[in-house]
Amino acid sequence: MALVVAKFGGSSVATAERIKNVAARLVRRHNAGDQVVAVVSAMGDNTDYLVDLAHSVNPNPPVREMDMLLSTGEQVSVAVLAMAIEALGVRAISHTGAQVGIHTDDTHTKAKISHISGDQIARDLAQDKVVVVAGFQGIDSRGEITTLGRGGSDTTAVALAAAIHADLCEIYSDVDGVYSADPRVCPKAHRLDSLSYEEMLELSANGAGVLQLRAVEFARNYGVVIHALSSFVEGPGTYIKEAEENMESDKMEGPVISGVAHDLSEAKITLRHVPDTKGVAALLFERMAELNVNVDMIIQDVSHDGMTDISFTAPLDDVERLTPACQQISDQIHAEGVEINTHVAKVSLVGAGMKSYPGVSAKMFRVLADVGVNISMISTSPIRISIVIDADQCQLAVRALHTAFGLDDASDGSDSVKVVR
Ligand code: ADP
Ligand code: ASP
Ligand code: MG
Repeated sequence: MALVVAKFGGSSVATAERIKNVAARLVRRHNAGDQVVAVVSAMGDNTDYLVDLAHSVNPNPPVREMDMLLSTGEQVSVAVLAMAIEALGVRAISHTGAQVGIHTDDTHTKAKISHISGDQIARDLAQDKVVVVAGFQGIDSRGEITTLGRGGSDTTAVALAAAIHADLCEIYSDVDGVYSADPRVCPKAHRLDSLSYEEMLELSANGAGVLQLRAVEFARNYGVVIHALSSFVEGPGTYIKEAEENMESDKMEGPVISGVAHDLSEAKITLRHVPDTKGVAALLFERMAELNVNVDMIIQDVSHDGMTDISFTAPLDDVERLTPACQQISDQIHAEGVEINTHVAKVSLVGAGMKSYPGVSAKMFRVLADVGVNISMISTSPIRISIVIDADQCQLAVRALHTAFGLDDASDGSDSVKVVR
């Protein structure tokens, strides 16, 4: 008997039929003797619909009310899934985040889980029930409903798995594992059998939305093995786990690059002609931190005549908030002005193998030059090289790099269905 946490994303519960399919899967698991805790997202694109609804009545909705609204999406799907399980003759109970003791800090719309009390779940499991938990939400110390940021149900699942010492944490979506690139952008992408936490962290941090970054961080910190699977087709999926365990497989002489990620959700902000004196970068980025802006790449150009440009990338969602602050700092320090480019893409090559393999960046830049892609920013980590380019060239760059680094599916699965929507 195993204790399983199984998370189902929005596309897996988009319709009544799909919810019944998930219910049947959970019931099979329960009848086979496992204890099952399901974590569920809002149905289909319901969260997007709710976000649009909020903005249609207020361009700057209060974050507390945003959480009140967005948390309802998951509340619908847990109740309906519990009903569907009961209809198959197995006892089930649905819970909100608050009801199962998912405690968070008070940062509305981006809350972090502080602790989880597994008591309620233990009581329900002891009564032989399938427990269905609303993903993406928690409660803060004032009793306010909070949400964990977009894609946050993944984090709920991994955190719950850690808290209740589950044997398995399965994340079901519309794709049958983690691929060497987003299969929607790169049809020749292939499924990876396993990835280390470090590689998955880099992929998730750089746009591979198949697993939320914070979920992978949680998994690494608590040693939770994630198994990414499709809720539509059977298959081996992808394991995300400690690197040492990967070594047992045939990865010892594995490829230098594991995958290519892309991200179209950031903007590039440049403060032009900034006086090159101490304290300027501190002033700018302290202000960004105060505004809770997640700054990503930062580049300061070589100074000419005591003047320099400072560029950074930040989420598109934060642009409205950061623009007046950057403008004000630009005036204060007598810079020439602020330029904001919202039409950029970040493309990243990720692979643990690149640590001990020279020439990866040279090859990357040559491939991009040969297909006519101009690079405007570069940043690296020991296992990643990221570039910022024009958004229109994103697909071209991803595909060219995928081919050049030998990642194309050998079986030429270009017309097989990898993703179900
Ligand atoms: P869910 O709604 O179930 O949480 P998501 O939409 O968040 O599912 O994640 C699945 C999607 O992630 C896929 O449809 C795919 O387009 C995208 N994706 C991006 N990068 C990758 C990748 N490297 N491997 C697999 N899927 C990826
Ligand atoms: N429903 C939320 C979202 O769409 C959380 C999730 O699906 O993980 O972001
Ligand atoms: Mg997701």
